[in-house]
Amino acid sequence: MTEKTVEKHNFDTDAKKILHLMIHSLYSNKEIFLRELISNASDATDKLRFKALSNDELYENDVNLRVRLSVDKEAGTLTIEDNGIGMSRDEVIDNLGTIAKSGTTDFFKQLSNDQSKDNQLIGQFGVGFYSSFIVADKVSVITRLAGADKSEAVLWESTGEGEYSIEGIEKESRGTVVTLHLRDEDREFLDDWRLREVIRKYSDHIGIPVEVLTTKCDEEGKKTDHDKWEKINKAQAIWIRSKSDITDVEYQEFYKHLSHDFVDPLLWSHNRVEGKNDYTSLLYIPSKAPWNMFNRDHKHGLKLYVQRVFIMDDASQFIPNYLRFIRGLIDSNDLPLNVSRELLQDNKVTQTLRNACTKRVLTMLERLANSNAEKYQIFWKEFGSVLKEGPAEDLSNRTNIASLLRFSSTNCDDSEQTISLADYVSRMKKEQDKIYFLTADSYQAAKTSPHLEQFKAKGIEVILMYERIDEWLMSYLLEFESKKFQAISKADLDLSKFEDDREKEKREDTEKAFESVVERTKAYLGERVKDVRTTLKLSETPAIVVTDGLDMGTQMAKLLAASGQQAPEVKYIFEINPEHVLVKKMSEEADEAIFGRWVEILFGQAMLAERGSLENPSQYLISVNQLLAKG
Ligand code: ADP
Ligand code: MG
Repeated sequence: MTEKTVEKHNFDTDAKKILHLMIHSLYSNKEIFLRELISNASDATDKLRFKALSNDELYENDVNLRVRLSVDKEAGTLTIEDNGIGMSRDEVIDNLGTIAKSGTTDFFKQLSNDQSKDNQLIGQFGVGFYSSFIVADKVSVITRLAGADKSEAVLWESTGEGEYSIEGIEKESRGTVVTLHLRDEDREFLDDWRLREVIRKYSDHIGIPVEVLTTKCDEEGKKTDHDKWEKINKAQAIWIRSKSDITDVEYQEFYKHLSHDFVDPLLWSHNRVEGKNDYTSLLYIPSKAPWNMFNRDHKHGLKLYVQRVFIMDDASQFIPNYLRFIRGLIDSNDLPLNVSRELLQDNKVTQTLRNACTKRVLTMLERLANSNAEKYQIFWKEFGSVLKEGPAEDLSNRTNIASLLRFSSTNCDDSEQTISLADYVSRMKKEQDKIYFLTADSYQAAKTSPHLEQFKAKGIEVILMYERIDEWLMSYLLEFESKKFQAISKADLDLSKFEDDREKEKREDTEKAFESVVERTKAYLGERVKDVRTTLKLSETPAIVVTDGLDMGTQMAKLLAASGQQAPEVKYIFEINPEHVLVKKMSEEADEAIFGRWVEILFGQAMLAERGSLENPSQYLISVNQLLAKG
């Protein structure tokens, strides 16, 4: 026999940080380590079953997959043993010594030193195997990969502080044995009754038996029989059971197993479909967005099973991108067992299942919106900005998605997005045939925009949009309940419907009276604007700029610029308010040079209000100073 060598390895930096948090955070809910370890064991048997589809020698004549838990009271240890896929030496180093999750750096940035907040975050991050160190001051793992020689097993050991050791060892059977050396204060998990209670809680939804060793004793505590392995969970995959038999708690626990989330889901939908397509889906809406939802490498998708056999994680083909927050699984009887990601890509069954899952989620959301507005707001706050990608991505469901959107509006003095398009339509004025909206950089900018003045005066509600995605959304959302959308910063905004005869007459009169002022302004601004005209829609503001109907709007241009794309220059139409004292002053100015200063100032102000910046600030300042100096 070769000499035994023990190697010491350092955990990678991220793993060290997580472990530190783990050991030093005061989890009120310590027992979750069992969920994580049972969950890993169950994943390992899933993987074995999948691999064995193409090579059944991997079963090594042991086809009854299961997890076993046992305690040694004297040694103070709890052992979790599975006969799943096991790990090779390299896999042990990769899986138990490093953190290979996308967005880990972003995750650490979000930690705040506020214990309770950080605990929540760690939960979302998914603590997994390292949660062993919540209750153990030393953890040993003995594992052998299915199909490998018994001499190729590995013993991994660590106290969770900085480093772990690894050495070669023999293991007769395949799979993994995790032994936890419990801290003194956590010896409750050695107690048979307590252990069973926790295991049952965390394993009833798992498809394989979870067994504990039972000792039969007589009244005096003498053994009456051999120890026996006793199955203590239902050992049937939850989605196969009938809905009426499954408790909310079981659904919630299964969600945590599947999503690595610590928080209960907001909502779920479990469906069995037979007939032309034969499948079961179990879809969850989380109650918290993952910290990396907007990361480019954020993984999404469903767990895919074919005829109960686990095939892959993150099968993104079944869920569109704008629903990437959905967790869950699909179990199909129509796909082949050897299906690969490539095969899924252009498969008819995939397409049908994807459409069905999409519909399910949208229906689930619609029901929630109609039945529990408060809960829907929780969803909207977390995932609204993702759902807003929907109308662009999914034309066929555009109408359904539109009715799920929520916005702020001038109807309530609040940046919170609570107003549906249906709410808006129900409040529309008799003469009104369009849905008015305004996009801006922030809620504050939208709320105080001069474009709103006439709407306020006439009591017409305007939807206020201030998220980046909104401009993009509005270029795909063209109408709702056959009402067209109208951006109020566009030149084609026509409010003549709301005018009475007197107002109409007044408008026509002013247009005439200001003809020459408009001409002089045009002459001064030349190519810098698309057009100049008078407007009576303003009250406190002397002038604004608007864009032509089909021209690109300000926010879209900003969006393109921010994403590094070339945006065509936005040409504005300059509108002046003849009733404003500054415009009156300007119109009375005979000196063409001074008139030019006035135009410069009013145009500059309008551009500032619209874009938040000026093309040529010094030109603007010179004009202001000259006019001020003139007194
Ligand atoms: P996750 O389960 O989210 O991947 P964990 O920290 O729980 O993260 O586990 C890390 C990895 O270690 C797993 O992905 C798996 O590859 C491996 N692993 C953990 N436990 C086992 C086990 N019992 N059998 C085989 N592999 C395991
Ligand atoms: Mg895990």
